[in-house]
Order: sequence, then structure tokens, then C-alpha cells
Amino acid sequence: MPRQLFVTTALPYANGHFHIGHIMEYIQADIWVRFQRMQGNQVHFVGADDAHGAPIMIAAEKVGKTPQQFVADIAAGRKPYLDGFHISFDHWSSTDSPENHELAQSIYLALKEQGLIDVRPIEQFFDPDKGMFLADRFIKGECPKCGAKDQYGDSCEVCGAVYAPTELKNPYSALSGATPVLKTSDHYFFKLSDPRCLNFLQDWTQDGKLQPAVSKKIKEWFTKDENGEGGLGDWDISRDAPYFGIEIPGAPGKYFYVWLDAPIGYLASLKSYFAAGGPQAKYGETRSFDEFLADPQVEQIHFIGKDITYFHTLFWPAMLKFSGRKLPNQVNVHGFMTVNNGEKMSKSRGTGLDPLKYLSLGMNPEWLRYYIAAKLNANVEDIDFNKDDFMARVNSDLVGKFVNIASRAAGFIAKRFEGKLTAAIGDEGKALLATLQAGRQTIVEQYEARELGKVLREIMLLADRVNEYVDANKPWELAKQEGMDARLQEVCTVCIEAFRLLSIYLKPVLPAVATHVEAFLKIEPMTFADADKLLGAHTIGVYQHLMQRVDVKMLDALFEPPPAPVVEAPKPGGEDMAPTITIDDFVKVDLRIAKIVNAEHVEGSTKLLRLTLDVGEGRHRNVFSGIKEAYKPEDLIGKLTVMVANLAPRKMKFGVSEGMVLAASHADEKAQPGVYILEPFPGAQPGMRIR
Ligand SMILES: [Zn+2]
Repeated sequence: MPRQLFVTTALPYANGHFHIGHIMEYIQADIWVRFQRMQGNQVHFVGADDAHGAPIMIAAEKVGKTPQQFVADIAAGRKPYLDGFHISFDHWSSTDSPENHELAQSIYLALKEQGLIDVRPIEQFFDPDKGMFLADRFIKGECPKCGAKDQYGDSCEVCGAVYAPTELKNPYSALSGATPVLKTSDHYFFKLSDPRCLNFLQDWTQDGKLQPAVSKKIKEWFTKDENGEGGLGDWDISRDAPYFGIEIPGAPGKYFYVWLDAPIGYLASLKSYFAAGGPQAKYGETRSFDEFLADPQVEQIHFIGKDITYFHTLFWPAMLKFSGRKLPNQVNVHGFMTVNNGEKMSKSRGTGLDPLKYLSLGMNPEWLRYYIAAKLNANVEDIDFNKDDFMARVNSDLVGKFVNIASRAAGFIAKRFEGKLTAAIGDEGKALLATLQAGRQTIVEQYEARELGKVLREIMLLADRVNEYVDANKPWELAKQEGMDARLQEVCTVCIEAFRLLSIYLKPVLPAVATHVEAFLKIEPMTFADADKLLGAHTIGVYQHLMQRVDVKMLDALFEPPPAPVVEAPKPGGEDMAPTITIDDFVKVDLRIAKIVNAEHVEGSTKLLRLTLDVGEGRHRNVFSGIKEAYKPEDLIGKLTVMVANLAPRKMKFGVSEGMVLAASHADEKAQPGVYILEPFPGAQPGMRIR
């Protein structure tokens, strides 16, 4: 009987796009899910956007959208990430779906029925301008300890003090700036401190199904200190309107706190998948959603990050238990991903690993899948993305040890044997293939246990054995020898058979490569059971290179901080300054004060004026100047200006020009029209030199 697996990843909060932490979790879960499918198990792998809560309501308001629009726009951007990294969700929904509204309300009513809901008045800061209660993060003021300004309602970023928002001095609303007032409101509580809940959770969290580190951490949460503080308290599950969320039945103006309905979103997404006919089409499912989940054979499996352990190992199982629903079979907690030696990921410093930038640089998504898998184990440990390590693992292991096996053998099979493999394999080859087939047991066990690093180490050890075989038998030398055709075909067949076995084992990690291998070998989609048999005298297709090596330039580009906005140097007058000259260069130009004795139009020219200039030489000079559009001749006569007096005379269409009058203009006369001739301050005399 195939196992029936209902698998989820944590629901991403719909106030932003995916970051590398999401992608890491999806890759981990996707590899596990693909492994289960290859084992012939039935998998329902679902996700959803976590749509509710004050931060989304406020972010939507800021950009002038409804929360529904805001969340829909974020959801519309999910596909390139999921497709890009080959994440094979069967279904994606939202916690604002009708299914989630209905399920959250019915689970709440069941808890109420059990006497596990309590109502208590709570005194809280209220923004009189916005007409809403303020969460701690929306209250600011002066730290009660050190007096630092603009600190949040729960802790001081300057001195590290932790306090209640009511202790802040001069508090104000971060939303409106208004001074908040204390106001009382009824809040709804889930009574986790009820002995029934405590007893259930103490058993459920300590019976060995959770990871040891997780069970240990939960034990601390249960323990009260010597003052009777700590321990498991009741959980405030309500928020007052206005709130983007699900209304609490029978409590007008009250909504479920986002963390109540978020995990219920797992069930809601599965329900919407059933409504869309997914399980029916895929596995011929005939049961309803409710019947399916009521079946004790169905396993419910969650993948989450360590930061949300509390919600998933205490609140969530308690909600399910006391509303009479299936409990999680696994809550698989992973650590965080750091980048380049634990550097905290920071968008502003550009040190993070941006998943879309990774794809846009043409980097192979399966490099990242392979690398992340190589680093992951079943424990709650952080993993680090390291550039050099990434290069080494992809280039040396994945390409060097695995991909190269096919590239070294496929050419001979195609060219020399018309693509035909042989069934005649000698003892050495048989022994090698038997070793590879025997490796399946361990690999399957490690996949099941989410020990992905161990899986890949095991596969690479097998690849080493194959490469030793290739080096010992040297097909490239056999190919040159007379009468060794049968031997060459045998050695290359062993390589191809071995490559196929390794491809089966790597398929959950490298789904796209596996698809290419299936096409190249002309075989059906590979499952783990296919490792039992060999291809035999089978005809394969033409090999095309399966994977490039990582180029270090790509990694450099990936982590290059976004370029600082380019501030263009101003270009005075629309052009760069001319190259530097010496004073000797300058004195070559003889500039003189000139008196405009006469000015007149030039017949046949639309641009030029003919100027008659006196530079104190006892004679007049004739100079043509392109200033007709800017000046009327009568306005110039009698004025002083500046001319280049030692410019070689130039013969022009209308006569000889004996010098040049200086005028200012912008480089782009069309963009900035205007020509301005120079006029000296009063007192200058014709003939004076300008120096
Ligand atoms: Zn402080």
C-alpha cells in the first residue's frame, strides 16, 4: 500500500517576495516530496500565502490598495521563484480563502464547545486618530531606562531594555503620531494552561516524534521558574477591528489573531486542492476532504523554520487535538541559512543571496538545490552558503564526478555502436553495478530521514567507484585499439548503466537533469524501483551536455552590492571642460578689446552679421560673426566687445574675416538657444589686451 502524505511548508507572510530562507525550505521539502513520489507514495504537497494581520493591512493602506489587492499582487509574483527552482507544489492557496474562513471558525467553535475559550478584559494602547488598538511594534516613545527617543513599545534598540509599551515615556502612535490612550477591550483566549492541554502537550511533544533539540526546547517552555513565572500561558487569539482577518463567530468586531488562522491554512489549502479536483485526477481519490483527513493512514507532515516552532508544536497540535482533528505526524524543523560565513543577510548592504537575481544571472537552479541538499541534515542547524564551497561542490562533485561519467562514454556508444548498449557485461562491470544497486537501501533510508547531506555523500562515494572503473579501463584507449570493439562497448555500457543508477538516486535533487537523462537514455520517468534492473541491450539517444560548471564571475556578480545610484557629473554649458593648457598656451591667443564701429546684415546669409571693429591699430577690421539671430545691428554699434586679434584671416563666402568676436553659448543650441557676446566693464579701451 502506498503511503498517503499530506505535506506542507510554512506559509510565507504575504507582505513581501520570497527570500533565500523560503527557497531553502522549499528545496528541502521538495526533495523529500519528490523522493516519496519516486517511491510510489501518494503525496499532496500544498502551500498558501499567509494573508492576514495588521502589518499587511497597514502596508496595503500605505500604497493605496485594499489588503486583498495587496496580497493578490504579492501572490502573483510567486510563480517565477517556484518554477525557477523546480518546487513542485501540487496546490497553492491563501489564508483569506473561503475554505480557511470556514475551517478557522469551525475549529474555534469546537474549542469553545470544549470549554477551552475564555474572555478577559485587556488594557491596551489605542490610537484615537486611527480608531484602532496598537500592537507593540506600532507604539514608539522614549526608553524608560535610558531615555533614547523613537524606541518601539517592547524593547530599546539603544540600551537593550525590555519593557511593556505602557512604560514608554511620551508614547506616540507610529501610524498617526497621535498620543495613544489606554483603553479596555475584551480579548478571547485559548486556555493552553488547562490541565487537559498541558497533559496532552507534555506527552505529544516528548514521545520521540519531534527532533531531540525541539523536544528539549519545548521542555524549557513548559517549566516555571522559582517565582512561578513562565510555563505555558493562555494564548490571546483575538484582535479588535479594524483588522484584516477572519471574524470570530458570535463576537462582533473581533477577529482571529493571524497566528490562529495561519496554520489552519494548511488544511484550507488541501481542502481547496480537493475542491479543484487535484487528488481525484492524480490518484483517483474518491474520498471527500473530510473523509481523507479522518483516515488514520494519512500522514500530516510539516516543514518549518526554527523561529516558528512554538506555534507549530504547542498551539497547532492543541488546536487540532481539541477540535477532534488529525494531529501532525511530523513537524520537521530546520535552521536558518546564512551567506558567506554567517554574514547576516541584509538587503541594504546587498550581501544576501537574492533568489531571482540568482536565476536572472543564468545560474543553474539545480546547482543551488544540490548545494543546499549537501549541507542539510535532519537537525535544527543553520547552514552557510559559502562561495568557494559552492564552486567546489558543484564543479568537482556534481559535474566532475557525476555528469562526466556520461560524457566520457556516450560518444563511443553513439559513434561506434549506433547507440546500442550490450547485455554482455563481464564480472568486473557486474560487480560495480551490483555495488551501485546495493547502495539504494542506505540512500532511501537517508532520504526518508531527511539526511540529505548523507544521501549526497553516499551517492558521490558510488560515483567515485564508477570513475575508478573508467580510469582503470580507459575507453578512450580501447577505442584506438584494433579488435577491441566488444570490450569498448562493454566498458561504455557499464558507464551508462552506472550513470543511470546514479541519476535515479539524484533525481529528487536534480529533477531537470533527470528529465534530460530520461530523454537521452530513451527511458520512462525513473523511480527508485527501476534501480533493480539494468537497461541490457537497449538503444540510447544522443548525449547533450547536461550541466555547465559554475563560473566564479557569476558568483561575484551574485554578491556584488547593487550599484550606487549614478550621480552624473554636471557638464557646464553642456560640454566637458577642455584639456588643461599651460599659461604659455594661453598667451598665444591675443585677446583685445574691440569697438564695434559698424554692424550690418550680410546679403544672402541668415546667420552672419558683418562687423567693423576698431582694436586701436589705426585701421578697421572686417569680421563676420554668427550672431544675427541674437542681435540687431543697430543695438551693437558703438559697443565694446572682445575679439581674438591674432587669428589667421579666413576667406569666407562673403569676404575675408580678420579675427573672431567672443560669444557664449550652450553646447546644445537647440536645447538651450541663445548667443551672448562679451562686453567689458566700463573703462576698457579698444586695443587693450586681455590677460
Ligand atoms: Zn534604552
